[in-house]
Amino acid sequence: MQEVKTDLLIIGAGPGGLSAALNARRAGLDFEIVEKKMAGGQIINTESVENYPGFKDDISGYELAQNLLEHCRRFDIEVREYFAVNSIESVNTRKKDKSYHFKCPGDEKLIWTNSVIMATGASPDRLNVKGESGLIGKGISFCATCDGALYRDRDVAVVGGGDKAIEEAIFLTKFAKKVYMIHRRDELRAVEILKDRASKNKKIEFLWSSVIEKFTGRDRLEGVLVRNKKENKTYKLKVDGVFEYIGWKPNSKLVKDLVKLDKKGFIITNSQMEASLPGIFAVGDVRNTPLRQVITAVADGAIAAMYVDRFLSKSAVRLPS
Ligand code: NAP
Repeated sequence: MQEVKTDLLIIGAGPGGLSAALNARRAGLDFEIVEKKMAGGQIINTESVENYPGFKDDISGYELAQNLLEHCRRFDIEVREYFAVNSIESVNTRKKDKSYHFKCPGDEKLIWTNSVIMATGASPDRLNVKGESGLIGKGISFCATCDGALYRDRDVAVVGGGDKAIEEAIFLTKFAKKVYMIHRRDELRAVEILKDRASKNKKIEFLWSSVIEKFTGRDRLEGVLVRNKKENKTYKLKVDGVFEYIGWKPNSKLVKDLVKLDKKGFIITNSQMEASLPGIFAVGDVRNTPLRQVITAVADGAIAAMYVDRFLSKSAVRLPS
């Protein structure tokens, strides 16, 4: 297997990883950036980003991701796409000053590195109720931007009460005849501006204090069994599509045995984006941040690159070149 040695390995090429790469390049660091899917991250699936400063007209998530990538290319940064790092092993070379380096076997290549930035993001959570697993991709979706157009003039449901659920429900009203918002409480978590837009949208009907108990349908989704928790009543709701937006789980598996994670599995970092093991940093949605947005991921990336640079300058142990 081909071996590569580098000072820094950035895993994940969403906004956090790309920003880390850009700032690492400006700091003159030697690094690799890898992405197991397509560069751009979760925002590729976001129809419109309206709170990224400097873009006063809405910009699509895809366009913003392309801008970030083009910016990186201008600095001669090439993302190794479809390259998955399979594990990270820390090799303690000098216990005295707690210096480590890392062995990262990936697709067809073994990367040795002095530091790692985890920019691996998060993946959608699932409801885990009866009938769900067999109907994913057959009526159950986690991406309205990708699948919304398939539901023209149909009835669909969105599950969740956060920003993402509301944004995507509003997006779905472009196509669907009706959008049921199924939320487990009688109050939304989403920001005021989104709540206001959703409540004024005539195609959206809220089903408060309600949960899905079962998905029905054999080859395709035909409906759901909804339980109103307050009235303790269960009824059938006929929908052709259900979009789940109930939060995210962190993609932190690679470092779960190396660094401290919080209860939900997010990587705990300090304000310099350092995790509990020297040399491992984390940015964006995978870390225990209070706000998960493009702007926070991008800021994390810039901070991490700066502190990786400092870490490498003071770290006694570097891989032999
Ligand atoms: P979120 O804010 O964590 O909301 C998840 C929603 O799903 C909550 O309403 C929660 O209900 C509900 N939920 C969780 N588990 C559930 C279950 N098992 N069954 C039923 N409902 C369940 O997640 P998000 O909306 O994906 O947003 C994630 C982050 O991205 C947030 O920080 C958000 O602000 C940010 N974001 C920002 C924007 C924007 O600013 N434009 C857009 C998208 C996302 P409860 O309310 O009862 O807990």
